[in-house]
Amino acid sequence: MQKRLLAVLAHPDDESFGLGGTLAKYAAAGVDVHIAIATDGVAGSVAEGYEYTKEDLINVRTKEVEAAVAVLGGTLHMLGYRDSGYINDPANNHPEAFINSDEHEAVGRVVALIRSIQPQVVLTHDETGGYYHPDHIHCWKITTAAYYAAGDMQQYPQIGPAPYQPQRLYNSAFPNTSVKIFTLFMRLTGKDPTKIGRNKDIDLTRLGIPRKKLNARIDYREFWDVKRAASAEHPSQGGRGGPRFGMPEWLQRRFMAKEFYICTDPPMQDGKYVKDLFDGVK
Ligand SMILES: [Zn+2]
Repeated sequence: MQKRLLAVLAHPDDESFGLGGTLAKYAAAGVDVHIAIATDGVAGSVAEGYEYTKEDLINVRTKEVEAAVAVLGGTLHMLGYRDSGYINDPANNHPEAFINSDEHEAVGRVVALIRSIQPQVVLTHDETGGYYHPDHIHCWKITTAAYYAAGDMQQYPQIGPAPYQPQRLYNSAFPNTSVKIFTLFMRLTGKDPTKIGRNKDIDLTRLGIPRKKLNARIDYREFWDVKRAASAEHPSQGGRGGPRFGMPEWLQRRFMAKEFYICTDPPMQDGKYVKDLFDGVK
């Protein structure tokens, strides 16, 4: 069986910063990996020294994600929506912003991908968007609707080639135990964990999912450097890898090289765990 995986994510960089380890690992194992990015990244803040990219941010971020996907391995699909900003960002009022787009039409774009690629496994953000980013939450909503619509002949009958129902829907998430470790390291190194991110508008202490709600853990220690190299292809977003939250890289590589998922279809019992997203797939 040729295994196929489709990840539908909000921004150019989520494929690397978020689940780059998982995507690199499956691509290296011969899985046909497809990465769909919903928005153009135009509302993203830029890293210091990259202010000049603001004018041309769509092109810069498109080139960055193309380079990152080439590192991870996989096929890139751009859905072409305009980036929305974080909570309270004026970019959220833009009529063409992803979060204001026609939902039926957006679901159709993902249905078209699912029907043509025929992935057994679909990945997206979780319902909290990881850190409550409106685009992430919207991407979860659209992808979840598309996952169920793709196999239903009554829905989107005009989209070919034929209805196709994937077998697993996973939501990317991170455990609150990791958050507690990062919070501790930040406090030890004199940083404030309630004000993180380039805009200092994310409260780390509010994030993370209880361990028992997580159903899959992908160990990507062997692909640590690949994830870092892919992240480094996003310089406008400060994607240089290296120490995060004040924690030395060797410690992260040893203990934190894991990406976690909630399996929402089929629903799994609390506490049940798989180490392969294709576990049980026929
Ligand atoms: Zn994102």
